[in-house]
Amino acid sequence: MITLDNVSKSFGRTVAVDEVSFTVDRGEVVGFLGPNGAGKSTTMRLITNFLEPDDGAVLIDGVDVREDPVGARRRIGYLPENNPLYDDMLVAEYLRFVGDLRGVGMDGPGSALDDTVQATGIAEVFYRPIGELSKGYKQRLGLAAAILHRPDFLILDEPTEGLDPNQRQEIRRLIREVGKEHTVILSTHVLPEVEETCRRIIVIHEGKIVADGSTENLMAQARDTSTKRTIVVEVRGADVAREVVKLPNVEEVTDESESEGRTRLTLAVGSGPDPRPRDREPAGPVQPADAVGGQVMRNIWTIARKELRTYFDHPTAYILLVVFLALNFFFFFFFLGGVFLTGNASLRSMFDLLPWILLFFIPAVTMGTLAEERRRGTLEVTLSHPLRESQFLLGKYAGSLLFLYIALAGTLLAPLTLSIGGRLDMGVVLAQYIGTAFLMAGMAAVGLFASALTRNQITAFIIATAVIFALMMAGTEGLQMGLPAWLGGAVGELGIMPHFGNVARGVIDLRDVVYFVA
Ligand code: ADP
Repeated sequence: MITLDNVSKSFGRTVAVDEVSFTVDRGEVVGFLGPNGAGKSTTMRLITNFLEPDDGAVLIDGVDVREDPVGARRRIGYLPENNPLYDDMLVAEYLRFVGDLRGVGMDGPGSALDDTVQATGIAEVFYRPIGELSKGYKQRLGLAAAILHRPDFLILDEPTEGLDPNQRQEIRRLIREVGKEHTVILSTHVLPEVEETCRRIIVIHEGKIVADGSTENLMAQARDTSTKRTIVVEVRGADVAREVVKLPNVEEVTDESESEGRTRLTLAVGSGPDPRPRDREPAGPVQPADAVGGQVMRNIWTIARKELRTYFDHPTAYILLVVFLALNFFFFFFFLGGVFLTGNASLRSMFDLLPWILLFFIPAVTMGTLAEERRRGTLEVTLSHPLRESQFLLGKYAGSLLFLYIALAGTLLAPLTLSIGGRLDMGVVLAQYIGTAFLMAGMAAVGLFASALTRNQITAFIIATAVIFALMMAGTEGLQMGLPAWLGGAVGELGIMPHFGNVARGVIDLRDVVYFVA
């Protein structure tokens, strides 16, 4: 079961979720109802551990989701608000991506993939790009991705929002179907939606739970104009009515029955706080430990592969590659010290100027990595799968590095040409390329960091370029002029150019390697 124990979450001065407690049992289909801004999405993000509570805890079978986030993610399927999806992927590719992260069977009839595609009725759009799907099909796909691994708990945030009446009916039918096997928590601000699909309703208003009960009762109450409520409680022991009626806000005991050492009371309760105590759930068995090493590497590789594919799905990536190579070859052949001007068989001119090209090339490659995920909201879906944030970041980093190394590999044409016409020192060339690989890895880390700071790619590009430029300038003598010697030296050590200067000459120094790795 899922238990929220006195959970609160604020954003600045807005209290989005205010001491919320409830428990959802296995097999329940619960409607989480409230007006816009009531705190529904925030509650769902707390359950999926996308957000952490300021106070209180979210427990799955008694285990705090913060203690075992990956274990919790394994058991939850999540469809966030607005159903963020990677529009440039095919439906098939996307489901395979999710399946890889989930470690579920994907091949053949009867596999998890096959079952899910049949259940959600998306077979006919299986090879279509997600961006071209109708809203109804996108919603089915979002649902398919959330139930692919047969989760114990399904969290759906406004799953029918923005759909036309027919599509709404279709999705509600699907949810009812799914609800036969799974525990479902579904948020909505549309009352009829829960009436049709849920057996229990929890109402949230201004961050507080204001009602929690069977759909039937609450609907009846909603039609009742009086503010009084009727609740049924079970109390251990006999002859307890006299005490219970003294509790604050209890007006009357209207019915009493005893069985197996428990007394069932029906209480008339005035408006105001609920007299029922909030019970902490006993701790359940701890979930199995985090995935073994193999799954960790598989997760990183799944993310990296997707990242790399995203580059090659966009024409911009090809343009970037061409510009990068064209500039390099221009510098190599024609710039001061270039082959045609000096007649020397050396890559020196290319490598001397490479950092200046990378200054723009690397931020352009990395700017979207995290900013786009945040802007589109896909970060929230991907992080609801059982992988750690660190694996996600490493995957993103590896993906963009692979792209950068493919670009670097393109420049190998230069030494190849030279080795035909002249005698090239291959040891020097090797050192230059290895050193450059380190430089690129360092710069890409700065780019990824900048991309993590914002939802806007252009802002990320500007930040990354500015930081890398500052690092390039830090090593120049101009900047150190006027500084005390010790400070000038320290600033100089931060600079990229002195470290890369060795690389450009074909010298690998451990100090330079340490610098780039750092
Ligand atoms: P609902 O899903 O019921 O519409 P939300 O949980 O999205 O409500 O929002 C509850 C309150 O918290 C709103 O006042 C909203 O403006 C605020 N809020 C939600 N998320 C954020 C956030 N990331 N930053 C600042 N305020 C937020």
